[in-house]
Amino acid sequence: MTYDAIVVGGSYSGLSAALQIARARRKVLVVDAGERRNRFAESSHGFLTQDGSQAAQIATLGREQLLAYPNVTWIDERAENVLGSLDAFTIATSSGTSFEGRRLILATGVTDILPTVPGLRERWGKSVFHCPYCHGYETDGGNIGVLATGSLSTHQAMMLPDWGRTTFFVNNMFEPDDDQLNALAERGVQIEYTPVKAISGERVEPVVELSDGRDMLFSGLFTLSRTAVTGPLPHQLGCDLEDGLLGTFIRTEASKMTSVPGVYACGDTALMAGSVSFAVGDGVKAGVSAHQSLIFSGLPH
Ligand code: FAD
Ligand code: MG
Repeated sequence: MTYDAIVVGGSYSGLSAALQIARARRKVLVVDAGERRNRFAESSHGFLTQDGSQAAQIATLGREQLLAYPNVTWIDERAENVLGSLDAFTIATSSGTSFEGRRLILATGVTDILPTVPGLRERWGKSVFHCPYCHGYETDGGNIGVLATGSLSTHQAMMLPDWGRTTFFVNNMFEPDDDQLNALAERGVQIEYTPVKAISGERVEPVVELSDGRDMLFSGLFTLSRTAVTGPLPHQLGCDLEDGLLGTFIRTEASKMTSVPGVYACGDTALMAGSVSFAVGDGVKAGVSAHQSLIFSGLPH
């Protein structure tokens, strides 16, 4: 059997894309490896009607509602290989099974590349975050640390005083220039040049351990992760990538079509910076475009 569309990635963007195709009564397959980007965080914020909901619950409810359509097939596996072209794509999964589809939608997200400071990884999504809109409010006006990963971190440090008293750990990642120092001073940001040795402490109250022996307690820590398109399918297909401020993402038209005919991409993997609500909206665009390209030959595939 050939599916009308295969959606790779069954989180917010993939669910949303698949839902449009399901409701068009077309046959759609979702292949999902089950590693949502926000799986490290319990709650999700900023998405209308779901503010503060459990991140997993939003995805589970979306999956339940999608699977109510009889023309949807779901498999919990990783897609490892893709071959073929427009109208005849074949993907192979980790168990060695193959599936055929006329259109492909990559909703595969991004992978966060975190600073290597000891203790940080374990606290990612618990007390260390990248997005103040997602998790800043819950620091409750307390002391906030920003751990630099590069010059761009100045932007993050400039924002955070709206959420709490901010200390910016430069950590030898770059040398702030005079303009940056003046701007940070105007925002009341404290700059700390002593290198960070480790992050420790209770889960919701991270302690920054400095190399000179001082410990500083915070109610939240922020750091800009680098992001990379989650592979290997976009690379195998030869989708054009774009360099964003935080990392690469898949280049798409407004229709969410990639540079490869018949292949669409949506959500974090196809955006400069993502969120649950962006992923949901982007998925709708990709699903609708992929569906309409099955009907109108004049449309870009
Ligand atoms: P993802 O949710 O990352 O899903 C991608 C899916 O594709 C995964 O299930 C993955 O396993 C699957 N996949 C990848 N490759 C393959 C493959 N080859 N085969 C099969 N499946 C594959 N946003 C908010 O709006 N509010 C928040 O409060 C918030 N908090 C966050 C907290 C943290 C710690 C992080 C890291 C992010 C947070 N975000 C938040 C951002 C949010 O997680 C992302 O924007 C959102 O998950 C993007 O959805 P997506 O569907 O594009 O990708
Ligand atoms: Mg998805």
